Amino acid sequence: MISPVLPTYARAPLSFVKGQGPWLESETGEMYLDMGAGIGTCALGHAHPKLVAVLEDQARRLWHTSNLYEIPNQACLAAKLVEHTFADTVFMTNSGTEAMEAAVKMARKYFSHKGQPERVEIITFEGAFHGRSSAGIAASGGAKMVDGFGPILPGFVQVPFNDLEAAKAAINENTAAILLEPIQGEGGIRPFGDASLKALREMCDAHGLLLILDEIQCGMGRTGKLFAHEWAGITPDIMTIAKGIGGGFPLGACVATEEAASGMVAGTHGSTYGGNPLACAVGCAVMNEITSDGFLTDVSRLAGHLRQGLEGLVADHPDVFEFVRGKGLMVALGCKKPVPDVVNAGYDEHILVVPAADNVIRLLPPLNMSTEDIDEALWRLDRVAAALERQHDAGA
Ligand SMILES: *Cc1c(COP(=O)(O)O)cnc(C)c1O
Repeated sequence: MISPVLPTYARAPLSFVKGQGPWLESETGEMYLDMGAGIGTCALGHAHPKLVAVLEDQARRLWHTSNLYEIPNQACLAAKLVEHTFADTVFMTNSGTEAMEAAVKMARKYFSHKGQPERVEIITFEGAFHGRSSAGIAASGGAKMVDGFGPILPGFVQVPFNDLEAAKAAINENTAAILLEPIQGEGGIRPFGDASLKALREMCDAHGLLLILDEIQCGMGRTGKLFAHEWAGITPDIMTIAKGIGGGFPLGACVATEEAASGMVAGTHGSTYGGNPLACAVGCAVMNEITSDGFLTDVSRLAGHLRQGLEGLVADHPDVFEFVRGKGLMVALGCKKPVPDVVNAGYDEHILVVPAADNVIRLLPPLNMSTEDIDEALWRLDRVAAALERQHDAGA
């Protein structure tokens, strides 16, 4: 018999009732170290006092009015995003997928607005993840995502990961944009690298294309810069944000230059909940923290410490771990054991990590962890590796 909750997820038999910083308390009162942070979403950890305070305060005042009216919290968050990024304007959503929808529609509208309505094609890269809507799965392109869902939304051309020659060859008179995650998340924490990002920016400029960056997972301070593309010294035309920006409250945004957004006039797009007072109150508080003095320097310092420890784990357990890759607090450990076994061994040692493609586990911890908690995570991962080695010895 089907469960009351639609069984689209393969869930772990764990359930949590309370969180504090990077720690989660299970139903049975056991403490788990959360190195996944709700897939990189709880950027400031669980129950951050400032986020709790603004959410409670806003909850007592006003939850929802709709975008029929001015929403001061939304205007405030948009202004902060404009101040701290390349963008001139912001469309607020409730999720990453909706931010991607806005980005795709904006890119197509741009060209139709310019009198080139045939330019609808968007070039994407294998291993991408851009959400689960009809446009999102078409952009992501994996068989698992699109199979059985009928005709795929046309206008997406996929080329091999980081293959710039293939991307160039895919450009034609109908091309509108190139879309990528500067560091693929679900794809296995695979960075394009600064040189590729620069080359893709130049390619877009040379052909009059829009560069769309999906920074839903790698943005909001995760790599040690507010947004990952800053490392490459380039800017996109359109960028999607979600996950970390709400600190765990559903919130996303599509941000753009004035030029790229020029087709999106009144009536062209909308959302009932998007940019509601509750979400934006929290989003403003998250932005304030992440852009506060020294915050991103601390992320980089913490990331260096984690990285060094993880390299040590790879050296100490060559039969379990193969490599470390990623940037800042968006890191992958390449596994020589099946990823589900590593994740399950993590549950036994009360540490939560996130599986990803390409046989890696992902670490996307809260950005404000203490060095002591990072050391605790490294110690637990060491025990995970030892347990997997013992299993192997027992099985051999
Ligand atoms: C999570 C994610 C999405 C989808 O976001 P949702 O909030 O789940 O809709 C899109 N792109 C990337 C890179 C993501 O990590």
